[in-house]
Amino acid sequence: MPCIIPGMSQAERLNGTGFALAVHGGAGTIPRDETSRSRTASYHDGLRRALTAGREILAAGGSSLDAVTEAVATLEDDPLFNAGRGSVFTRVGTQEMDACVMDGTERRAGAVAGVFGPRNPVRAARAVMERSRHVLLIGEGALAFCRENGVAFCEPGYFRSETRWRELQNALQHLGREPPQYGTVGAVARDRRGNLAAATSTGGMTGKAPGPVGDTPIIGAGTYADNVTCAVSATGHGEFFIRHAAAFAIAARLRHAGQSLDQAAQAVIDELMAAGGSGGFIAVDRAGALALPFSTAGMYRGYARDGMAIRTAIYDEPYRSE
Ligand code: ASP
Repeated sequence: MPCIIPGMSQAERLNGTGFALAVHGGAGTIPRDETSRSRTASYHDGLRRALTAGREILAAGGSSLDAVTEAVATLEDDPLFNAGRGSVFTRVGTQEMDACVMDGTERRAGAVAGVFGPRNPVRAARAVMERSRHVLLIGEGALAFCRENGVAFCEPGYFRSETRWRELQNALQHLGREPPQYGTVGAVARDRRGNLAAATSTGGMTGKAPGPVGDTPIIGAGTYADNVTCAVSATGHGEFFIRHAAAFAIAARLRHAGQSLDQAAQAVIDELMAAGGSGGFIAVDRAGALALPFSTAGMYRGYARDGMAIRTAIYDEPYRSE
């Protein structure tokens, strides 16, 4: 189900002054029954809040890196989305979060995996990028680093919701009989100076065993940004995205095959589907064109541009305007 947003006009491309921002709140089998319909408005509101947070930064001349960090932190604070506060439970009742941020200017990147405690895992990832010599920190070592570097923590109760706990019980009852429930949040942006950035954050899959790390914190799999090509944030069946170096594959198609962003993103979605993996991407290229393709029933998503209303959608449907 492609959803390609045309790029800027030729004049805007030449000036290179416009900003563009896209967010996602996960892809998967999103039921369209009565109960979920009543929650639909809340999802649109949540996406809009994230886009507003990112757009304010970009409109004030701020960096794409700040915009994606704030947009993702806003989604992490919203219990509706599977990241940060709304992270799902593993089958043993723990929560394990992964997050990543990448700055396309110099291809700097930071990520954390298997952490529980930092209020905003994306800020932990940013601290790794800015204050360590490393790209990816995991588990206890990551937590110790976060404490030493002033990353804000929350008590376990902050992350625990009855809805997520019920979802775990349901997943345990139907283990192996229902398609896996995904959920991840992400943002990509191009700022007015033409710099690109991407950020992704997840609680993983409901009822997963403790331990597995998906594509979210893996550079080139679930997250990637390079000013020469594009910035990408993925959501879906992480193992497939890792094996196909999915986010980097989009950038490589732009760089080496001269494809447009929409062609490249759709080609990688098709490649993943052929291999048996489903999910979606949000991506922005150096000229500000956006692509938000997905192969699932829906993907919580939205975008904003310089001087334009915020647009959000869930299914293969027309976008709602702010
Ligand atoms: N890609 C994420 C992971 O594998 C899950 C998701 O996007 O829903 O952890």
